[in-house]
Amino acid sequence: MESCRCDVLNVLSGPLAQDYVRGHLEGARVDGLGRQVHRCARTGIEWTEDRNPDGYAENVLVLRRVLR
Ligand SMILES: [Zn+2]
Repeated sequence: MESCRCDVLNVLSGPLAQDYVRGHLEGARVDGLGRQVHRCARTGIEWTEDRNPDGYAENVLVLRRVLR
């Protein structure tokens, strides 16, 4: 399992984000905007998947931490 960096990171992108989803986060639900939401079992922190966001190459997976 990947070590938990949910407390210190706000955004992850590319292969790093894919590894983090696979190795650390649980697929949880889909939010009101149709985005996949992943959850960290250790901290309870949630991350949303952002596909094709502005400023990134096509088909790059970007994870954004849900602020609360
Ligand atoms: Zn975590």
